Amino acid sequence: MKQKLEEIRASAMRELAEATGPQALETLRVKYLGKKGEVTAILKQMGKLTPEERPVIGELANKVRTFIEEDLTKRAAELKAEATKKRLELERIDVTLPGTHRELGVPHPLSIVLDEIKEIFVGMGFDIVEGPEVEYDYYNFEALNIPKDHPARDTQDTFYINDNIVLRTQTSPVQIRVMEKQQPPIRVISPGRVYRSDAVDATHSPLFHQIEGLVVDKGVTFADLKGTLETFVKRLYGEDSVVRFRPHHFPFTEPSAEVDVQCFNCHGEGCRLCKGEGWIEILGCGMVHPKVLSNCGIDPEVYSGFALGMGLERVVMRRYNIDDLRLFYENDVRFLKQF
Ligand SMILES: [Zn+2]
Repeated sequence: MKQKLEEIRASAMRELAEATGPQALETLRVKYLGKKGEVTAILKQMGKLTPEERPVIGELANKVRTFIEEDLTKRAAELKAEATKKRLELERIDVTLPGTHRELGVPHPLSIVLDEIKEIFVGMGFDIVEGPEVEYDYYNFEALNIPKDHPARDTQDTFYINDNIVLRTQTSPVQIRVMEKQQPPIRVISPGRVYRSDAVDATHSPLFHQIEGLVVDKGVTFADLKGTLETFVKRLYGEDSVVRFRPHHFPFTEPSAEVDVQCFNCHGEGCRLCKGEGWIEILGCGMVHPKVLSNCGIDPEVYSGFALGMGLERVVMRRYNIDDLRLFYENDVRFLKQF
C-alpha cells in the first residue's frame, strides 16, 4: 500500500507536469483526489490495515494528498502565467511596423471657395445665416417685390411644389426671413443651394449655389456697397483686382448694378476666359428697395441697406479654369482629387 501511494505520487507529478490547461488539471484532480479518485480509494482501504500500519499509511496518504494539492495549485499558477505571457506576446504592438494607410478625402472645390468667401465676409463683421430650400412663394417672390404677374418670374424657371410653395430659385428669400425676425443693424451672408428647372449643360444645372449678402442700418449708402464689394473682390482675387459697376435692374433693389471684375488672365485685353470682353461678371447687387424693407416691418425712412447675390459655381469655375459645370456634381474622384 505504501508502494502504491508512492506510485500514485510519481504518476500524479508526471501527469501534472504535462497538463496543458485548466481543463486537464481538473481531470487530474478528479482522477487522484475526487470521490472515486486513487488517493481516496487508498484511504477507503485503511480499515483492512493492522493498527500499527494504520497511522503510518494514514500519514503517508495525507502527505501524498497534500503534495498533489500543492502541485495542482502550482501548476495552475504556471499555466496562467504562461497564458498571460502568450497573450501579451500576441497582442504586442510593434510601433515600427508600417501603418494601415487610410485614404483621406479632400474638400470639394465648391466648399474650398465657399469657405474662403465666408471667411472674407466674417472678417468684415457679417454673420452667416441659412434658410429653407423649400420655400413659400411669398418669401421667394412676393416679399421681394416680385408679385404673381411680374415678368421677372419668367426669367426664373421655377420648380413649383404647389401654388404657394416652390424650391427656392435664389437665396434672396433669406433676406426677408432675417429682416422679419431682426431689427437693424443687420449684416449677414447666406450661402445655399437654389433650384431652377433648367436643362443640364456645360453652364446650366437645375441645382446650383448662391451666396446672398444683406446689410441694413441707418445711413447705409451705395458707397458702403461699393466699398464692401471692392474689399471682397480684392481679398478673393488679389489686391490688384479692378472692379466696375454697371447699372442693372432687379425688382428687389433700387438702384441696382452688376459687378464685373477685370479679367485677371488678360488684364482687360480680352481673352478666351473673358470671351474677349476684358471683364468678367461676378455678381448682382443694389440698394434694398424701400418696399422690401417695409414688407418686413423696417421703416425705409429710417433705415437703408444694400444686398448682393452671386453664383458660387461661376466664381469657382473662374478660379480653377473649369469649363464645365457638370464636373462639380458628377463626383468623379479623378476630378475632385485635383484640388
Ligand atoms: Zn481675359
